[in-house]
Amino acid sequence: MTTPRVPILMYHKVGATIDGSPDPFINVSSISFERQMLLMSRLGYVTVTFAEAVAGLKGQLKLPRRCFAVTFDDGYCCVGEHALPILSKFGFSGTVFAVSGAVGRENAWDHANGKPVHPLMSWDQLKKLRSSGWEIGCHTKTHPRMDGIEDKVALAELIESKALVEERIGGSAQTFCYPYGLFNKQTPALVEAAGYTGACTTRSGIASDSSNAFLLPRVKVSHSDGVAGLLYKLNLRPMLPTLRKRRHGVGF
Ligand SMILES: [Zn+2]
Repeated sequence: MTTPRVPILMYHKVGATIDGSPDPFINVSSISFERQMLLMSRLGYVTVTFAEAVAGLKGQLKLPRRCFAVTFDDGYCCVGEHALPILSKFGFSGTVFAVSGAVGRENAWDHANGKPVHPLMSWDQLKKLRSSGWEIGCHTKTHPRMDGIEDKVALAELIESKALVEERIGGSAQTFCYPYGLFNKQTPALVEAAGYTGACTTRSGIASDSSNAFLLPRVKVSHSDGVAGLLYKLNLRPMLPTLRKRRHGVGF
């Protein structure tokens, strides 16, 4: 029996930046995104939502033999505009991690970092995604750095965002994504205590059934990856530690 492995792709924005400013790390062009999804389709992959991936890795759900999850942090409008039609074309779905206190506004938390600020989807737009088979997960209420806040503040962020997303979307919000990928020793336990089934980080790797369900790694897709970069991150990079061991005569 093979070990369940689920590549969880991490995107933020899809399409050209609104003001033309450079946003290299988290913006992937529509053309690149479409080619990457075509690649996954040709390789025989089907999508699962992040919640399904979590359940499958825990052995609670039978996963398709070749499946992957497509996740989008923050809930930018461009995801509904560009990623939704592309994914639908291939019969794929995605998961958006919404910041409950910023729905329908913008990523104001990036003002201070000098990063581009873009519009975020409204509740109606998020509901539209959900009715297309997407999952809406949580990304806190205010997008704080969770490694530096008190436990009770973190717990409030986790519980209140879950409650609001569930109320506004009309379904359960099962999963969580750490803002900036930051957490401290207690945070994963707080996420579990708040009622989530699993959470993803910005750590690189392919999630497997030996991963901690509250610290799942993802495959970060950046603007320069294209198809070759995605293939490398999916197939070759995960093998590098084994190959290095073999070169040094260990691992057989
Ligand atoms: Zn974020």
